[in-house]
Amino acid sequence: MAKIKSLQCRECKKEYAPTFRYICEECFGPLDVNYDFPTINKNTFANREHTYWRYHELLPIESKSNIVSIGAGLTPLIKADKLGKVLGLNNLYIKNDSVNPTFSFKDRPAGVAISKAKEFGLSAVGCASTGNLASATAAHAAKGGFPCYIFAPSDIEHAKITQALSYGANFIAVDGTYDDANRIAAQIGDSKGIGIVNINMRSYYVEGSKTLAYEVAEQLNWQVPDQLVVPVGSGAMLNAICKGFEELEGLSLVNKVSNMHMIAAQPEGCAPIVDAFKKNKTEVIPVENPDTIAKSLAIGDPGDGQYVLKRLKQYNGYAEESSNREILDAILLLAKTEGIFTEPAGGVSVAVLKKMVDAGKIDKNDSVVCYVTGNGLKTTEVMMEVLTKPQTMQADAAKIAALVS
Ligand SMILES: *Cc1c(COP(=O)(O)O)cnc(C)c1O
Ligand SMILES: [Zn+2]
Repeated sequence: MAKIKSLQCRECKKEYAPTFRYICEECFGPLDVNYDFPTINKNTFANREHTYWRYHELLPIESKSNIVSIGAGLTPLIKADKLGKVLGLNNLYIKNDSVNPTFSFKDRPAGVAISKAKEFGLSAVGCASTGNLASATAAHAAKGGFPCYIFAPSDIEHAKITQALSYGANFIAVDGTYDDANRIAAQIGDSKGIGIVNINMRSYYVEGSKTLAYEVAEQLNWQVPDQLVVPVGSGAMLNAICKGFEELEGLSLVNKVSNMHMIAAQPEGCAPIVDAFKKNKTEVIPVENPDTIAKSLAIGDPGDGQYVLKRLKQYNGYAEESSNREILDAILLLAKTEGIFTEPAGGVSVAVLKKMVDAGKIDKNDSVVCYVTGNGLKTTEVMMEVLTKPQTMQADAAKIAALVS
């Protein structure tokens, strides 16, 4: 299993014992997990289970008995030749993380945070959610035997609320934005000692998302892609993907990580990181009232925003946004070419990828990985605005035959 060396402040580098804490006492910077990794080679993982726990030595859980798994991870990396042809790319891959057990990538960070909550012996867990984290947290809480408290804006998609409730979570629908829900969750987590996976458990939570780097590297036979397109809300995932590749390089499993390009994708109506990037700023100015169909990315005040900007600089990246119309078109394009049905967050990735190719920022022979992080079945309401509802026909084969060419 993993050996955690310390929690280390991302800003002032002060180190702490790896306990239930998440911010630096000196400078209020976020704390990251530091490890003593064992010796590992490319074959270490080869015959392991088909979940992200195949990388357990690189994750922050010290006893295997504390792992709470619902079988998430090792999702398909699809060679997207048909979509590539439309976009003009010869080496395009889709990391289809919409097929996780709760149908988004959030099973990765939530599963790691809840396993850590078990290791800490916490009595309850919860999260602040834009939608997908609610179900990922609720499902892992159910499996781990924890009471679960979800704090989310009241206007998220119906399917996401239904799903989280079905796992038995207490769902607090806040009349406000995600940032309002987040603030309340932070206060309640601290005052009641609840493990809020993406707030006071955040140091451990983000570790789950770095498996999105490990899996892509392993699936590409330990090659690092040239271009990675990542949808961005808080920015935790993009930052974690970079950390994941860097750790693999430290373990000599991959090389030339510094050659990769990170592309941050946000929706118009909530693109504070794209705004800051385009204005060449190092600080992110929050969006007060996000307005986008990509509700899972509707985080006006992104916790890891400034770190995403640093990553984009470090990895010669870009940040770009897409409109609601472009998102819907991209969802349909992905569905009709590759047979993958994503929610708007995935549409944002594909739409931004298209813009980057059109703008000449990506070479046609680059290896490109586009992260598709959530499932289209969660957001059917918004799709029916651009689809035609089928007309109900009399059950008469002759009449219906006339419709089939
Ligand atoms: C939460 C979420 C994101 C954004 O992840 P962050 O770590 O907040 O940047 C992207 N896609 C989907 C489907 C999500 O649910
Ligand atoms: Zn510090």
